[in-house]
Amino acid sequence: MHQLPALFRQQMMAQLGDEFPDFEAALNQPPPVSIRVNPRKNHLDTSQFAPIPWCDTGFYLPERPVFTLDPLFQAGAYYVQEASSMLLAEALRQTSRLTRQLRQHPLRVLDLCAAPGGKTTLLASMLSTDSLLVSNEVIRTRVPILRENVDKWGYPTILVSNHDPDAFLPLAGFFDVVLVDAPCSGEGLFRKDPKAMQEWSDENVALCSARQKRILTQAAQLVTKGGTLIYSTCTYNDDENGQNARFLLSQGFTTCSLTLPDEWGVVTQSAGGVVGYQCYPHRVRGEGFFISVFRKTAFAPHTKTTARQFRSIKPLPARRVGEVSRYLTQPDDFSFWIKPNDDVMALPKALEKDLLLLDTALYNKGFGLEMGLFKGNDFVPAHALALSTAVAPTLPGVNLSREDALRYFKKENLVLDASATGWLLARYQTTNLGWMKAIGTRVNNYLPKDWRIRMDIPEY
Ligand code: SAM
Repeated sequence: MHQLPALFRQQMMAQLGDEFPDFEAALNQPPPVSIRVNPRKNHLDTSQFAPIPWCDTGFYLPERPVFTLDPLFQAGAYYVQEASSMLLAEALRQTSRLTRQLRQHPLRVLDLCAAPGGKTTLLASMLSTDSLLVSNEVIRTRVPILRENVDKWGYPTILVSNHDPDAFLPLAGFFDVVLVDAPCSGEGLFRKDPKAMQEWSDENVALCSARQKRILTQAAQLVTKGGTLIYSTCTYNDDENGQNARFLLSQGFTTCSLTLPDEWGVVTQSAGGVVGYQCYPHRVRGEGFFISVFRKTAFAPHTKTTARQFRSIKPLPARRVGEVSRYLTQPDDFSFWIKPNDDVMALPKALEKDLLLLDTALYNKGFGLEMGLFKGNDFVPAHALALSTAVAPTLPGVNLSREDALRYFKKENLVLDASATGWLLARYQTTNLGWMKAIGTRVNNYLPKDWRIRMDIPEY
């Protein structure tokens, strides 16, 4: 039985009234398990799973498997995400301007507080293939997990950056959509993460609220006129939610309403001219989550670049292009570049102008699809390329059994049934896992060592 902090308990009693006992009881139930499938790696049989009503790619699982031991999870065929936070999908879908634009028109989207990448992978899945998504995380130690999840998801149009929100100010008015999924006191995660409960205090709520307001002040400037700002937290209190949402009215925004069926159980909170939507664990099959959507009505500058070339990447010499372009399904959609460390990368041509601007404005970032490295006459393809949705499905590969796929993720060398030569894609149920290099029936395993599964595998 969780012992809630006394002050939090009092505040929730005031907020929920008669519903409080149900709320408290729900916190003592196990949290539901849910996943969201990758629509461009749609290789998972979801027919047995209950759908999440507000996200067409979200599903509840009947129990929690050991995700680490599922090769499809390792390969980015799905992301394990708490169900309430997928309400972002419905919020985006319903925001009228986006309904017309999503999937049809390229948008510039910024996920300002992105690690570990749950909402980034959701946003990416909903955008057209020529939209730009900038996925930013300020805390340096959280960037590698974001990078890994972005690589697994496999969309070459995501730029990952590591900046404080104020570093984005040269990009004022640049983005059609900005998501602030803010760092918060985590009240909504108490049953999933009891540590959040231990760390809860009135002072911390006040600190979080002030930090969120700072982030929103900066985020507000980045949205283009007519664009959308989405503010979300996984908490319940008004200091962090309503108060900051209302603050946005003074920053040139109007509130956007959503129509949510009553049976979903999401509570609409209207106060001071702003509408927000709150999930509670006793009303929805999910954790605590708050979301509020805004449209920018104020003037925003039109940010352009005068830069004509990228800071450090150079075009790949033409004689090399044939060797790398054969790895992609639609190589004509990409231009090929070489970094100072000799890594070859591919940039979506549709985004080149925007990337040029971002290259000038942001220092700590990685963009484009990492293709690999020339070593003498050999081209060593990158792991991110194997996991990319842009990689050619016709490349030679081997379908592995589950046991061999797990051996692959333990970075063991495998033995093939038939002899082969050269680079092969390790596949599981047609989903690419990574590269192997065959010499006869023996293969060398090119899984990056940081990606190796460290846990013991019972079936071995
Ligand atoms: N959007 C993520 C997802 O769906 O996986 C979760 C984001 S989490 C709620 C908030 C993030 O904000 C954390 O990764 C945290 O490191 C980051 N953060 C912390 N302080 C920040 C600040 N001052 N400005 C911007 N982001 C901050």
